Amino acid sequence: MSNANEYQTGLKEYKCDTEPRKDDADAVEVTESLVRKLPKVELHCHLDGSMRFETVLQMAEEQKVKLPSDDTDKLKKLLQPGFDCKSLVDYLKAFDITLSVLQKPEALTRAAYELIEDVAKENVKYIEVRYSPILHQLQDMNLAVILDAVLEGLRLGERDFGVKSGVIVCGIRNIDPKFSMRLAELSVAYKNKGVVAFDLAGAEEDYPAREHQEAFHLVLKNNINSTVHAGEAYGPESIHQAIHYCGSHRIGHGTRLFESGDLLNYVNDHRIPLEICLSSNIQTKAVPTFEDHPVRLYYDLGLRITLNTDNRLVSDTNLTKELMIAHQYYGFTLDEMKDVIIQSFKSAFLPYREKRQMIREVLLELDNF
Ligand SMILES: [Zn+2]
Repeated sequence: MSNANEYQTGLKEYKCDTEPRKDDADAVEVTESLVRKLPKVELHCHLDGSMRFETVLQMAEEQKVKLPSDDTDKLKKLLQPGFDCKSLVDYLKAFDITLSVLQKPEALTRAAYELIEDVAKENVKYIEVRYSPILHQLQDMNLAVILDAVLEGLRLGERDFGVKSGVIVCGIRNIDPKFSMRLAELSVAYKNKGVVAFDLAGAEEDYPAREHQEAFHLVLKNNINSTVHAGEAYGPESIHQAIHYCGSHRIGHGTRLFESGDLLNYVNDHRIPLEICLSSNIQTKAVPTFEDHPVRLYYDLGLRITLNTDNRLVSDTNLTKELMIAHQYYGFTLDEMKDVIIQSFKSAFLPYREKRQMIREVLLELDNF
């Protein structure tokens, strides 16, 4: 039986694997322009964290919304706290700004459409876009209007850029669980109409997932997929609750899973995918530095890992950058990147037949690299 210490020891051995691995001496050189061209899938991307900076400014002007600073540089620093950020709670402050301009249907449609345009530029074939409709009700939009507006932006994006997508509705840990229930009901109403899963986001510490389990039970009883942000700002107990109290099919982050060898084996044995977001994890201090991240350990142990941006604006990243970080800090070769890409497609909340077809096409495209 493994224990946490064994894995922690293992993690130390894997730290800072910046040199090319010995057996990959002849591997193809990995460059940013090559990685940008690889077909990709993104499973963990927040709409309200992934707007364009210029769009936030334009929307604020159009809607006469007062932003916290008139100085563009200061505002950018507030929206992109970077690696000076102190914690998840600190990181989440940027969302007060983006949410202030996302209170109208046309703003939500535009944000969704632009996100699809952006991801198309790095050859993303399919993206699951998540957000919490409850946070867009400052001007009394109802939940259906809020969801329809985003679905319309995604539909127009697919029409113009060919990227398929699905919505993940987020309950929020630090908001009364009765609202999670309303969002779960909304997910049921929109099953097969654009919503592919239900999630729990927000402040993890002090707000356990089990308090929202009624919402997850409703979702599960209706055969809807679920994922939970867990093991990001709290330990493996949080991941345990996500899986065993909420029935989560994937784990958002799972950064601290390595602290429990037993749970890690369970996650591995059940092929529960981890939605890993490297830049975000350093910024929120889920781990102190890139060198401390367990992604290499997870991959080598055979865990099903996926790489994601979390928030393209707030983390100042894209999927190409995240894959390049995996290469530069953890020695992921091109073949390993391709493997992670296929693992990510396998982890998508898509109907099996559709997913199988998509994977066939992606494998053919990956053969060109
Ligand atoms: Zn997230």
